[in-house]
Amino acid sequence: MTRIFDSDLESGFATRAIHAGQRPEPLAGAIMTPVYLTSTYVQTGLGENKGYEYARGKNPTREALERNVAALEGARHGFAFSSGMGCLDSIMKLFSAGDHIVCGESVYGGTFRLFDKILTRMGMSFSFVDTRDPNRISEAVTAATRAILVETPTNPLMRLTDLAAAASIARDAGCVLIVDNTFASPYFQRPLEFGASIVYHSTTKYLNGHSDMIGGIAVTNDDSLAERLQFIVNAAGAVPGPFDCWLALRGTKTLHLRMERHDSNGRAIAQWLAERVGDDKVLYPGLPSHPQHELAKRQMSGFGGMISVELGTRERADAVLRKVKVFSLAESLGGVESLISNPASMTHASVPAERRRELGLSDGLVRLSCGVEDVGDLIADLDQALG
Ligand SMILES: *Cc1c(COP(=O)(O)O)cnc(C)c1O
Repeated sequence: MTRIFDSDLESGFATRAIHAGQRPEPLAGAIMTPVYLTSTYVQTGLGENKGYEYARGKNPTREALERNVAALEGARHGFAFSSGMGCLDSIMKLFSAGDHIVCGESVYGGTFRLFDKILTRMGMSFSFVDTRDPNRISEAVTAATRAILVETPTNPLMRLTDLAAAASIARDAGCVLIVDNTFASPYFQRPLEFGASIVYHSTTKYLNGHSDMIGGIAVTNDDSLAERLQFIVNAAGAVPGPFDCWLALRGTKTLHLRMERHDSNGRAIAQWLAERVGDDKVLYPGLPSHPQHELAKRQMSGFGGMISVELGTRERADAVLRKVKVFSLAESLGGVESLISNPASMTHASVPAERRRELGLSDGLVRLSCGVEDVGDLIADLDQALG
């Protein structure tokens, strides 16, 4: 087999996860990509260099991560950023004052905050719509629409968007479909295959998988978008440090193994919870009772470890959150350890209470990020905490 440094899309997912974007280091042959701790690169003469000039523009450790994740998403180009939000902010720099974006109404709280509090102030406009219904997306498109942005499944309401339908609306409108694929990971869902133009992640979550860094990444197959994104990377500079890239790259090597376990734990816990508290109280796309279960099966090959449970009131949620012993009360998700949180008072506190009510995001909603521990211990923990 030849070395698959350049995104070799012929190999299987696991082979790409472990090898894509990486080659033995040229000095000693170290099998692991070094952490290139450098700000600049020595040049041989004016305009003569090895393709690297200054580390804001390019860093070999960062490049290895970018090529690796691009290969996992089936993309030719990848751009790593200092956080998921830094990534989205840089993607949005593709647009200008006067441009209009159609955005899913129940996207990540930080996405809503960036659009509502900062980019609106800079002259961009947004329509937040229920993207579960493709008609709502088409109705919101105007002559000024430059992008449709969706997250599927959403955080924390587990609402899905039909990626093929959204891509076709974007194509007809002559705009781009941008997808936040953080929740599903490329192991279970690859939006480019359904016609998305840009896919991005908070690498902080499943891609890194070990809760030890903050990062983001955007991938695309469109050469002209890639050229503009590379310009933005260098011009705006929201780049990650090489050690964080190295940690994320270490994480992606086991993405397939971890996602299998997140998924089997997630399915078992969702099933158990449905029997314990009622299936109308459990939000998990893998449950047949989920209203979009058929769509989930069509565009995802697994459902992962994210589950939301309706406990009725903030007091009841608080009581359960205080009692867990294996799950930890914390924001974030996608790590090997199980986490539990209350979106209304934590990750989604930046969404106004009135708006949370409209969306159906109640104060008693609890979100689980099921880790890769023994499923029996996780279920026993929830059982004692539910009392
Ligand atoms: C965490 C998260 C983000 C933001 O990423 P950061 O790395 O925290 O900046 C964006 N989208 C989703 C779905 C997330 O879960």
